[in-house]
Amino acid sequence: MQFRAVKGMNDILPDEVGRWQRLEQSFRRSAELYGFQELRTPLLENTELFVRSIGETTDVVEKEMYTLERGKESLTLRPEGTASAARAYVEHSVHAKEPVSRWYYLGAMFRAERPQRGRYRQFYQAGCEIFGDPGPAADAELIDMLVGLFTDLGIGELEVAVNSIGGAETRARYRAALLDYFRPQQGALSEHAQARLDSNPLRILDSKDPRDKAASAGAPALIDQLSDEDRAHWDGLRRALDALETPYKVEAGLVRGLDYYTRTLFEVRSNQGELGTQNTLAGGGRYDGMIQSLGGPDVPAIGFAMGLERILLAMPKRETAPLPFCFIAPIGEGALLDALKLARDIRRLGCRSDVDGRGGSLKGMLRRADACGARLCVVLGESELARGVVQLKDLAERSQHELPRDSAAAMVVERLRAVDPRAERVAAVDRSDA
Ligand code: AMP
Repeated sequence: MQFRAVKGMNDILPDEVGRWQRLEQSFRRSAELYGFQELRTPLLENTELFVRSIGETTDVVEKEMYTLERGKESLTLRPEGTASAARAYVEHSVHAKEPVSRWYYLGAMFRAERPQRGRYRQFYQAGCEIFGDPGPAADAELIDMLVGLFTDLGIGELEVAVNSIGGAETRARYRAALLDYFRPQQGALSEHAQARLDSNPLRILDSKDPRDKAASAGAPALIDQLSDEDRAHWDGLRRALDALETPYKVEAGLVRGLDYYTRTLFEVRSNQGELGTQNTLAGGGRYDGMIQSLGGPDVPAIGFAMGLERILLAMPKRETAPLPFCFIAPIGEGALLDALKLARDIRRLGCRSDVDGRGGSLKGMLRRADACGARLCVVLGESELARGVVQLKDLAERSQHELPRDSAAAMVVERLRAVDPRAERVAAVDRSDA
């Protein structure tokens, strides 16, 4: 029996990981430049947390959660990061320690959606949350940060859509207006929308069903019904985006799939690359009521999440030169033990070194050194050891020198650095300029 990964859940093999690391590092860097600090939360939360925060009648909660029942407990694999961040914020009374918190996270999320290109069941999101800042300057900064990050990553044809869905008062008024609008044509809606009409008429505007789309075409726009305070926030956001010269378009139909949003909503899309219809790279918005609804104080909040797989599909594929490293070829058991020490010394000086422990002839080892892409090869033979020397081969230049064994590690490292000054940085630690 041959096992395969679960449908919609992908392996990321070592030859793809370099691009992931580059993206993750760019994200961390820009988040930290904006004053965000990393938060790590568990993958599992009480199911009720997601029902309460994301909303009972959302697709995520109704259809897409991976839920485990164990005894009396119902736990769910996190489908997104905001609920956990808000839970942690309340649980640790963070508001009492600092007036404003800027947090970021990065990790796997789980939703049982129909897999397709750019849509998976385990996928990775990076996101930022700001607690304690009512905006709208903070809202504009978040959007501007995303545009800057995507531009730095080489992603073009960006499109920023923004909307405001107002606060609780505006929403209640709008809900009534939507009900008045949809009720007379209830029969023309999809079955799903009909079932949701009373509980969540706003979500009909977000439906992909052609019947709902047609029915929504003449719906009143929420943006025209904002309360004075909501409008002042909205105008402030637009002024700040204009001041930052961040291009955006107002999309009155932008609703987004999660229920917790208030006022500002935004999406950043790209029409470049291999994205197709799944072209929303990041989405977010304000969720001023959530902290209180989770039992915390009345603290405003805003955040976004971006999908790493989609960003990778949009990012240009750049060939990056591999970092040069040293291969050590010991001939015989005594030499192998010395090779282990030499390799460790080279690593301690900060460069990669591989030891060939498989034995065999010198010719075989040199072939392996070439095949794995090593730049240098140190040959350690019994006779060389007896004389206190090693042979250093440059596999690109096809040259060879004899070195004293004592200074071999330092000389290997010096040579690797001369070939490429990045040699002493291991890829995972720093690929920022790769
Ligand atoms: P959301 O949490 O639904 O607001 O989504 C935020 C971002 O996460 C989207 O814009 C996508 O880039 C990404 N995303 C959401 N769902 C998926 C999925 N099933 N597979 C891959 N990426 C996703």
